[in-house]
Amino acid sequence: MSDTPYMREMCLLCDEPMEVDQRSASDVVAIHRECALRNVTGGIGHLLSHRTFCMGDKGPDAGMDYRTSALMVALYIKRVGVEAALDSVQKHKEHPDDG
Ligand SMILES: [Zn+2]
Repeated sequence: MSDTPYMREMCLLCDEPMEVDQRSASDVVAIHRECALRNVTGGIGHLLSHRTFCMGDKGPDAGMDYRTSALMVALYIKRVGVEAALDSVQKHKEHPDDG
């Protein structure tokens, strides 16, 4: 048994500590599963209104820190479903100046 004190890993995306059950599927890098999701979809501001947040001064995370935005992205996708969230992301890619 090691005498090395337990070191908490920090998420590479949000730089906040991780609990064992918060890891994404990756065994290689330490990333919260919600942060991995946010990294793919963009922040909650981007999902809700690209024009308002991404093109405004709040940015894609709607002025919040990365982790909070990531947790909101996960909740948003849970509530509206993956298809609706992906439609929103695709719409922003095709028409970046719209809503
Ligand atoms: Zn994280």
